[in-house]
Amino acid sequence: MQCRHCEDAPCTKVCPTGSLRQAAGLGSVSITEQSCIGCKLCTMVCPFGVISVEKRPESDCSSATNNGVAMKCDLCNDWRKEKGETQTACEQACPTQAIKLVDLYEYRTARSKARAAEIANAHKSISFTF
Ligand code: SF4
Ligand code: SF4
Ligand code: SF4
Repeated sequence: MQCRHCEDAPCTKVCPTGSLRQAAGLGSVSITEQSCIGCKLCTMVCPFGVISVEKRPESDCSSATNNGVAMKCDLCNDWRKEKGETQTACEQACPTQAIKLVDLYEYRTARSKARAAEIANAHKSISFTF
């Protein structure tokens, strides 16, 4: 199950090392693995159960303690930057295009405008007889 990148994300409020951060505005929530101490507090408050803490082999350990490193969806930010992709990996893999990465502000603005247009049209078709 994917991270919802919640508004006012609770996982970012409890992280004692500031490893979970939300980008400005309604931005994505990402983890800095190097400073994560694997305390699992974030896993306890996530309402969707999308964070897992996984132990890394010593040779591959980048966390401060090797108690494990928190992992979750980061909207493929690093992968997209590295590969120059605009779509996420799950968007590309989905055979029915059911997954789409959208800008929340743009999405909400478009929905608001569409609804306003619907209401305006509905009012046009109402005729009053006195
Ligand atoms: S990890 Fe959970 S709480 Fe944090 S932003 Fe994602 S869904 Fe929300
Ligand atoms: S497991 Fe890592 S990311 Fe989660 S709250 Fe603890 S330090 Fe922060
Ligand atoms: S493929 Fe990328 S965007 Fe999709 S769930 Fe995984 S990390 Fe998130």
